[in-house]
Amino acid sequence: MNHKATLISRAFLVLSVLVLSLTSVLAQTSAPTIYVKAGHLFDATSDNLRDNMVLVVEGERITKVAPEAQVTIPAGATVVDLSQDWVLPGLIDCHTHLQARADRYDPIWDVKRTSFNSGFNGVVNANKTLQAGFTSVRDVGSQPFFAVDLRRAIDEGQFPGPRVVASGPGLSITGGHGDMNGFAPGVENRMFPTERDYQIVDGPEQVRHAVREQIKYGVDVIKILATGGVLSQGDKPGAEQLTYEEMKMAVDEAHRAGRKVAAHAHGTEGIKDAIRAGVDSIEHGSLIDAEGIEMMKAHGTYLVADIYNDDYILGKAVEFGLPKENVEKEKMVGRLQRENFAKAVTAGVKIAFGTDAGVYPHGDNAKQFHYMVKFGMTPAGAIRAATSSAADLIDRAHDVGTLEAGKYADLIAVTANPLERVEVLEHVSFVMKGGKVYKDELGAAKAAQ
Ligand SMILES: [Zn+2]
Repeated sequence: MNHKATLISRAFLVLSVLVLSLTSVLAQTSAPTIYVKAGHLFDATSDNLRDNMVLVVEGERITKVAPEAQVTIPAGATVVDLSQDWVLPGLIDCHTHLQARADRYDPIWDVKRTSFNSGFNGVVNANKTLQAGFTSVRDVGSQPFFAVDLRRAIDEGQFPGPRVVASGPGLSITGGHGDMNGFAPGVENRMFPTERDYQIVDGPEQVRHAVREQIKYGVDVIKILATGGVLSQGDKPGAEQLTYEEMKMAVDEAHRAGRKVAAHAHGTEGIKDAIRAGVDSIEHGSLIDAEGIEMMKAHGTYLVADIYNDDYILGKAVEFGLPKENVEKEKMVGRLQRENFAKAVTAGVKIAFGTDAGVYPHGDNAKQFHYMVKFGMTPAGAIRAATSSAADLIDRAHDVGTLEAGKYADLIAVTANPLERVEVLEHVSFVMKGGKVYKDELGAAKAAQ
């Protein structure tokens, strides 16, 4: 290096240091510190509450959690006073369909509505979900690539919504749970005909291609449809659809790219082949048997069982034109799903909270807590399924799921003790996501006196 070059690089170094220190000063001034007083804190690192705590929030993240006596709050600082309330991490729903409305069951809607319609639904549903206290969701199954776009738009701050872990369409066999069945040949509903909607796959090589395509377009997680479904036409929930070889291919390709795999699986054998193939979660798990439960424990597979929506489907959904075939299938699996969930809980299978929101109205997600406790979990266990465990399943434990220094300031408050009555989570009074207040029915946020 010659002398002139050395001088230039030194000058550049000085300039860089100046710029760096200026940026850090700006960062400090543009992100005011918020002091959140938590009367009763459930931080989801244990099953216990701690009283009279303070969370210090700088910018989007928590920098300190300490007893109130150890924190000096400067005069004029922004305080969120939840000293009479119960403060918890923002909730996480690992199974949503934010594009879907719970009043569009007749399959005719598949050919009547456009993708743009789904986009509008997504804006509305994302806000309802956030207002209900769910600050993160895993969206598992939508048109290509609705959930990816939704995630980006929310992250850019275009409209309020939860953090989204996005899948593409669930990979389905021809004529399977994800296909459009019951119409004459030639009736199609595709925006992207070249790739069979990135969804219909027959044989491991097609699975490989579809997984790679989905990853190319930005999905965070791969959803596969291991067995038949309840709300599809002409298939049986108990029947295996993807083969073991097809599922193994999906898992290998997804894991190689650092993506997890969620398997829709009602049927006993399909559940086992999905676990054997190495999926990260079994969705629904309705007809799981004792062997399947043991396999889930051995593999560390999460169970995401949507045990609330049975009530809604057998009630309201009929009004909205749910075909008789689907009602019959729901009756068949609904009760068994709850009983088998209880067995899995007793056996110690890892549970993450997921509701299939979209099948029932968005924003009612917390109604499932009641059933999780009714069918064997403690309130603390059910809450941790929707916080720390959910964060682990969706691969975001470094950012969300507990209230600790370094995590995003995603937190909610309720006005009664959820460990005594978990149903209080159906009425969340305060929502903060990334240090920003999205709901404050308590008038908690104010400047210190
Ligand atoms: Zn679903």
